[in-house]
Parts: sequence; C-alpha cells; structure tokens
Amino acid sequence: MTTLRLAIVGAGPAGIYAADLAKKSDRGVDVSIDLFERLPAPYGLVRYGVAPDHPRIKGIIGALREVLDGGAVRLFGNVEFGTDITLEDLQQHYHAVIFATGATRDASLDIPGIDLSGSFGAADVVSWYDGHPDVPREWPLDAREIAVIGNGNVALDVARVLIKHTDDLMPTEIPANVEAGLRSSPATDVHVFGRRGPANVKFTPLELRELGELRDVDMVVHDEDFAYDEAARTAIASNKQVMVMDRILQGWRKREVGAASRRLEFHWWARPVEILGEGRVEAIRWERTEPDGIGGARGTGEFREQAVQAVYRAVGYFGSPLPGLPFDERQGVIPNHEGQVLDDEGALVPGVYATGWIKRGPVGLIGHTKSDAMETVDHVLTDQGMWWTPQHPDERSVDELLASRGVRFTTVEGWHLLDAHEQALGAPAGRARVKVVPRDEMLAASLGEPVR
Ligand SMILES: Cc1cc2nc3c(=O)[nH]c(=O)nc-3n(C[C@H](O)[C@H](O)[C@H](O)COP(=O)(O)OP(=O)(O)OC[C@H]3O[C@@H](n4cnc5c(N)ncnc54)[C@H](O)[C@@H]3O)c2cc1C
Repeated sequence: MTTLRLAIVGAGPAGIYAADLAKKSDRGVDVSIDLFERLPAPYGLVRYGVAPDHPRIKGIIGALREVLDGGAVRLFGNVEFGTDITLEDLQQHYHAVIFATGATRDASLDIPGIDLSGSFGAADVVSWYDGHPDVPREWPLDAREIAVIGNGNVALDVARVLIKHTDDLMPTEIPANVEAGLRSSPATDVHVFGRRGPANVKFTPLELRELGELRDVDMVVHDEDFAYDEAARTAIASNKQVMVMDRILQGWRKREVGAASRRLEFHWWARPVEILGEGRVEAIRWERTEPDGIGGARGTGEFREQAVQAVYRAVGYFGSPLPGLPFDERQGVIPNHEGQVLDDEGALVPGVYATGWIKRGPVGLIGHTKSDAMETVDHVLTDQGMWWTPQHPDERSVDELLASRGVRFTTVEGWHLLDAHEQALGAPAGRARVKVVPRDEMLAASLGEPVR
C-alpha cells in the first residue's frame, strides 16, 4: 500500500482537522503526517483568539488534542515555514503539503487619524489578552472612554474584555501580566460603532446576550437607531438569529440605566470618518448614516463626535503571504480551487493545498474549518498522479534536517508537559490553568527543562 507523506503547515483547527480527515480516510493509502507550527503550542486561534472567558469554546481543544494523541500525526512546534523550513525542503521530504496558516493580522481601516497613538487593531489586543508569546507583555490601558469599531463577534469580545470587572475574569486562564494590566485600566465606557443598523449586525445571539449579563455594566442603546425600514423588518422576520438578537436589543431598550459604574454603549447608523487628536487619540468623529432601502447605509451629512482616549478597530482579520507561494493581495488568501492552490495564471500548483482561513478568508467559526478540510483533503487523496516524488520520504530525515539547522522543535509529548505545567500554575487558585506567555518559558516547559 502507498504511504502518503503529508506535511501540514499550521496547527490551528484547520490543520488539525485536515490531519484527522487524512489519517481516517479510506482511500487505499496509508498516511503519515507531520504538522509544522511556528508557535511552541498548537491550536492557533482557539488558544490565541477565542476570548479567555469563553471556556466552552476553548473546550474544543479537547477534541483537537485527541487527533494529536491518536497516532499517525507528529507535531513539530516552534518551526516556522519560510524560516526554519522551506517549500523546497518539503518537496524533498513529502508527497504533498497543506497550508493552514490562518489569518492573524488586522484588516486596515483607511480613515484620518487611524495611526494616532492610542489607535489599535483588535488582533493585537486579542493576542495580548490571550497571552500570545510574540506580542509585548504590556498593553497601554490608560483610556477611560474607548471606541470599538465593528459589529462582529470580535468587536464584542474586545468590548467585553475591556469593560468587564477583572475579578470576573479571574476564573479564566489569563496570565498574570494581563490581570495586572486590566486591573490598572480606568475604563468606564466602551462605545461600539456600526455603520448599519441593529438588524444588520454580524454578532451571534449567544455573544450578544452575554453582554447583558455583565455585572455592574449598563447596556446603552438609542431609540433613534431602531426606526426600522422595510428591509430591516424583512431581515428580522426571515432570519431566526436576527430575530433573537432584535429581541435581546428590544429588552435592553426597556432597561433602566444609571445604576452601574460602567457602560457599554452601541451607536448604529454611525460610520466613523476620523479619529481626532494631537499626537494621540482624543475623540472619534462619525457620520450618521441611514438605510438606503436595500439593506445598506448611506451618509446623511450629519457628523457627530464622542470623546475617547483609545480606539480599537475590529473590522476583520487578513491573511499573510508565505514565501514561495502565490498570494491574493486583495482577499488576503492563497488563491485556490477547492483547496488546490493556483498559480498567478490560474493553473494548479502540483502537491500544494490550502485549508481554513488562509484558503477562504477570515470568516466563519471553528466548525467551518472542518468542512473546509474535508474538501481539501479529498483533493489531496484523489490527486495522487500530481504528488511530488520526495527523495527522503522517511520520517527520521525531517528530525535530522531540523536538528542540523539548530531548530529547537517541540512535539506532542512536549505540549503535554507544557499543558501540565500551565494546569499546575492554575491549581493553587482553583483555576483550570494559567497560560505561560514568554516563548523561552514555553519552550523550556515543553522540552522538560527547568522553567525560570
Ligand atoms: C478574536 C477571535 C475570536 C474568535 N472566537 C471564536 C469563537 O468564540 N468560536 C468560534 O467557533 N470561532 C471563533 N473564532 C474563529 C476561529 O478562531 C477560526 O474559525 C479558526 O481559528 C480558523 O482556523 P485556522 O486553522 O484556519 O487558523 P488559525 O486558528 O489562525 O491557525 C493557523 C495556525 O497556523 C500557524 N502559522 C501561521 N503561519 C505559520 C508559518 N509560517 N509557519 C508555521 N505555522 C504558521 C499559526 O501560528 C496558527 O497556529 C474567533 C476568531 C478570532 C480572530
């Protein structure tokens, strides 16, 4: 029986689901998979994107871990594609490669003032509060009033983490530097901006409802934003999720506000046009919009301002190009047809595949990466005639290659050691874990060395 030596780059959910589907496939090929991950720990945005106070979602890690523990898959953590290992290297050692490198950057927002001090991308603060090893330990939390631009779940995550009382985050895995940073924050008001209306939000009901349950935080919504037109009424009547969210918002409209010490205020029909300030953020300016009759928004020429000292844009993530691979600069993805990578002329690149957010762009939940992986893996297995012919298909040669380059890679066993170490750090306070942040400490724990 043929043994497919398959490399997967990126150990987020897309890469791990692809590994699972490839090894379970019943196509007359044995499969041996090596999963390369640039961080010392696996799980991608499940570990470094999903908010710390969403332990139920973080629980997906249990299922992903079973794949890593189940044999036929080796993890090479702390190995960066493009630096530690190249496309040419992979061609020497594998029949095919799947790229599952996700999207980690913030999409840009081109308005005056976006580069002022105090204006941030959501991806950066998310990485900070989730303890990503490659972002600064300190985060400047000195704003009393904060603007969050965007109407998706990431905007809600950022708004919630920034306005929540830190004590209410303490059952979570947040590292000590994040706890200290949040405790020092003087934030009392977070303003969330959406350029369309309450019936057009991209939130999900669970995430919206959760805000209304925050201790000592008033939800502030404005009656003027709820003058629904025909398009909005149709959206509410025809979509269960929109209907549920409308019900939640109507409930908030009836609530008394004023008793809480903190507020989360929604501004709809509000298109931010400028961030104002001398050197640093002092206010946000927006144009009031109105329904255009077909579900969109148009400007009214009326401008408003709100004093804020920090602005977070949560307007979407964006993929990054990978050395030696084609890249679609407009969409931020690797160009592909159902996961088969295409070159600049639109021809198939033999042996090279993509899955997850780098394949289809940064939208959708973790579960969607599974169906993605199914489509991609299906092509890998049926494209046998296009596989590479590796000179060194044996497993050991990969370890030797990395060792010869001085790459200190981590393994599944190493992840178990780091996992146990983090759980031990959390145990004295009754917490499930406390995350280790510095890369050298993650590596030491994974390699069984003393952790400082
Ligand atoms: C802030 C935020 C919150 C979210 N919350 C939820 C939620 O609550 N529920 C939900 O279902 N979904 C949530 N999502 C969506 C979910 O995280 C994504 O659907 C999913 O993580 C995409 O999977 P992926 O494997 O394609 O990418 P990722 O999870 O980003 O994984 C990509 C992996 O590739 C690695 N990598 C990148 N470049 C290289 C390289 N050059 N060499 C080696 N490795 C590399 C990265 O380190 C990473 O581990 C959230 C997303 C964000 C941004």
